[in-house]
Amino acid sequence: MRSVTRLLATSALAAAALSVAPLHVPEAFAQDKGYVGIAMPTKSSARWIADGDNMVKKLQEAGYETDLQYAEDDIPNQLAQIENMITKGVDVLVIAAIDGTTLTSALANAAAADIEVVAYDRLIRDSGDVDYYATFDNFKVGVQQAETLVAGLKERFPDVRPWNVELFGGSPDDNNAYFFYDGAMSVLQPLIDAGDIAIPSGQRGMDTVGTLRWDGAVAQSRMDNLLSANYTDKSVHGVLSPYDGLSIGIISSLSGIGYGMGDDMPMPIVTGQDAEIPSIKAILRGDQYSTIFKDTRALAEVTVGMVNALIEGGEPEINDTKTYDNGVKVVPSYLLEPVPVTEANWEKVLIDSGYYTADQVN
Ligand code: BGC
Repeated sequence: MRSVTRLLATSALAAAALSVAPLHVPEAFAQDKGYVGIAMPTKSSARWIADGDNMVKKLQEAGYETDLQYAEDDIPNQLAQIENMITKGVDVLVIAAIDGTTLTSALANAAAADIEVVAYDRLIRDSGDVDYYATFDNFKVGVQQAETLVAGLKERFPDVRPWNVELFGGSPDDNNAYFFYDGAMSVLQPLIDAGDIAIPSGQRGMDTVGTLRWDGAVAQSRMDNLLSANYTDKSVHGVLSPYDGLSIGIISSLSGIGYGMGDDMPMPIVTGQDAEIPSIKAILRGDQYSTIFKDTRALAEVTVGMVNALIEGGEPEINDTKTYDNGVKVVPSYLLEPVPVTEANWEKVLIDSGYYTADQVN
């Protein structure tokens, strides 16, 4: 529902426009199908920039007006941006939360103003006011990360057993991080039980291996510590990394002490997520082994479909009604398919699909 604030603003604009050029239809009307606020977590990662750009492009093509804000991973900043969008009278809020547990009262304010909410990529927890959730199959992302890790270990270290592996998790305030970790452990745990994988540091579980705010520098320094405390007399063969930004930090730490410099110290198998360009380059150099591609164009498409249905009164398309319990309700969701990427298929997946141009990567 359009708020009074916005109706007044629109009428004022209309009056002004009519007094100047009565025969001209101003841009504001052409775009006046609805007003959508988009709250994104940070510009420090290329994926969120692509997400924001795709959302704005597709919403504007569909005739909506947009307000896109990035909060640079600062929770109070994101809260203020969302409150501001509510005051400006958006019809729908699309939110990729920084901390999925901090939005309960902001969303209560949105509900009081009849504003619908779509959780974008990250589930918003502890609120009954989340209407829909558009995301990828996050458990599967973790499964694919671990499957590529194991494939890489077999390929690069065929004669080694057990493989020495260290685990990294995502941000503990991001619901996705648990899905990635659980998905990965569903593949790794049987190999740990069978003695094929060892974890020399003994560090496991999201409460121990999580990386607050997905910060690459934090991952780098944790890797430094893991190496100096556990690997003076042995080699590390694999690192489960849930996100490219962490992988880059982990790889810096490994190269810093000579991994990847010669045959006696091969680079361990390092995974990732998001197919960010620095990581594709690292894959082509042989430093990173894999990443997971999540097509943000498709996510924007699904989300715009949800926004359309919410504003025009249709039924948003969903394909999952049981996985994403946010603590108050099971949020109806649409899950997209993630795609594992290695040196073997990056061109087909990322260039042939038009997601990147060859120039961006080379
Ligand atoms: C997203 C990932 C991303 C991570 C860090 C997660 O919520 O699903 O794609 O790598 O946040 O930005």
